[in-house]
Amino acid sequence: MKSDYMAEREASLEIAIKLFLDDVASRPAEPQTCSRCGNEMEYLETTFMLFGTDSCWNVLLPICRCEPNGAPNKERNHGRN
Ligand SMILES: [Zn+2]
Repeated sequence: MKSDYMAEREASLEIAIKLFLDDVASRPAEPQTCSRCGNEMEYLETTFMLFGTDSCWNVLLPICRCEPNGAPNKERNHGRN
């Protein structure tokens, strides 16, 4: 039956997501530097909850606030048509 197949796929996806979040959440926050500006990244504490389960994870996401000013300059033309 097709629905069994889908349920199986969803279950394995759920396991994969859980394993991924378990791994990410258990990692210590290592100091990282921004590849764009070279400053140390800040960490944003984020909670992930998996829909349909009562599992949740606290994950630290490295962020840098330089992005708006440091974004690649699209006005730069390397060649014109
Ligand atoms: Zn940066």
